[in-house]
Amino acid sequence: MLTIKRVPTVVSNYQENGSSEDLKSKAHGCGRNCLGNCCLPASNLPLYVFKNAEHERVEGDIHGSCNGGCPQMSFLNNHLLGQWEDRMNRGLFRYDVTSCETKVIQGKYGFIAQLNEGRHLKKRPTEFRIDKVLQPFDENKFNFTKVGQEEVLFRFEPNKGKTSVYFPSSPVDLEKGSPSVIAINVSPIEYGHVLLIPRLPDRLPQRIDRDSLLLALHFAKEASDPFFRVAYNSLGAFATINHLHFQAYYLAVPFPIEKAPTCRTMSSKGPYETRVVVSKLLNYPVRGFVFEGGCKLHDLCDAVASSCISLQNNNIPFNLLISDRGKRIFLLPQCYAEKQARGEVNQELLDTQVNPAAWEISGHMVLKHRKDYDEASEQYALRLLAEVSLSEERFQEVKQLVREAANLQSDDEYNIMQQEARYDPVTTAQVASHLHQGCLVRH
Ligand SMILES: [Zn+2]
Repeated sequence: MLTIKRVPTVVSNYQENGSSEDLKSKAHGCGRNCLGNCCLPASNLPLYVFKNAEHERVEGDIHGSCNGGCPQMSFLNNHLLGQWEDRMNRGLFRYDVTSCETKVIQGKYGFIAQLNEGRHLKKRPTEFRIDKVLQPFDENKFNFTKVGQEEVLFRFEPNKGKTSVYFPSSPVDLEKGSPSVIAINVSPIEYGHVLLIPRLPDRLPQRIDRDSLLLALHFAKEASDPFFRVAYNSLGAFATINHLHFQAYYLAVPFPIEKAPTCRTMSSKGPYETRVVVSKLLNYPVRGFVFEGGCKLHDLCDAVASSCISLQNNNIPFNLLISDRGKRIFLLPQCYAEKQARGEVNQELLDTQVNPAAWEISGHMVLKHRKDYDEASEQYALRLLAEVSLSEERFQEVKQLVREAANLQSDDEYNIMQQEARYDPVTTAQVASHLHQGCLVRH
C-alpha cells in the first residue's frame, strides 16, 4: 500500500474538527441544516435549470466566438457570482481570496503564481492512500452530505425546455431525482471557486461516469465564459475527498496549458466534420491529451468519459481541465503522488508543499510560502511539472488504452500543428470586466 502525507484542503466549514462521531447524522433535522438525510428532504434550495442543449450541435468554431457583439455576462455567471459574493459578505470563506497576491512568472510559458498563505493553516498532515484510483465511498469520512446548506449556491439540473431558469427557492423532492449541487469552496483559489457535486445524496465515490461528466460539460457551457474552467482530480492525483465532485473558478488570463501547441493524434470514426479529435500537447512539461469537436456535446463527453473510465479501471491517476466553455478537455494522466510515495521526488520540490492537481498542472501555481512566491521561477514550475508527467513510453501505453476505450483511429499522419492564440486581447478585456478587480492578475 502506497501512502503520502499531505495537508488536506478544507473545502467546507463542516470539515474541520469533525470527528466521525460528530458527523454522524441524527434522524430528522440534526439542527445544522445540512445536506444529509436528516435535513435535505425537508429543505428549500435555489434551483438553476439549464436549457436542454443535449441535442444542440456543437458550434463549428471550436475556439468559440461571441455571437452578435457580446460579451455579456451569462445568466449562470450572474447567479453564480451574485450568490458567491453573498457568501463572501456573510463571512463563510476562511480568508479573502481577493487579497491574495498573483503574478505571471517571467518566461515563455507564462505560468501564474499565487501566494495563498490562508489555504493550509491549522491543519495537520493526513495520510492518503494513493495507489488506488477507485476506492469505495466511506460514510465515516468527511463527505458533502455533512455540508451546511448555507454553503450551497444552488442546485444545477437539466430543464426539459429550451431556456435556462433560476428559482430562488424550490422544495427538494428526492422522489423526483437526486439533486446535483453547486457549493462554495471555503478555501478558494480564485474568484468564484465552487464545487459541483453530482447527485449529492447518492454518495457517489470520486470516479468519472458519463452522466456526471456531461453535467460538468453543461456547467462549463452554461457559464459561457472563456475564463471559467471546470476541473477534476482523481484519487491518486490529489483529490482529497472521496465523494464525486468537480471544481470550477474564474481566472482572467489563459492558462499556459491552453496556449500550448498541440498535434493531432487520434479521432473518432464517422463523417469528418462530426469527429471528436484528440491531440497531444507539444512543448509542454506534462504529456497530455486534448479532446475537441464532435457533433453533439455528448459525443465529446462519451470520448472523454470512456477514456477516463479506462484509466480508472487500469488504476492510472489523472486530472481533467474543461476549458473554452466545455469545448476543449485536457486529460492528464500523472504519476507525482506515486513518485512521492516511493521517495523519488526531490526534497526541495516537496518542501514547497505544492500538490500538483489539475490547476497546477494547467499552469496556475498556488504557493503557500512568501519565500517560494517571491522566488518563483519558470525553472521551478518546469521542474515540478516534469515530476508529474508520465514517461514517453508509459504515455504511449496510455494512448493505446484511450484509443481502444473511446474507439478512436490513429491520425498520426495528420500531424497538424495548431499554434494559434486562443484569446484575442479585445475580447479578453471586455469579458474580464465582470470579475473582481482584486482577482485580475497583475502583469
Ligand atoms: Zn442535518
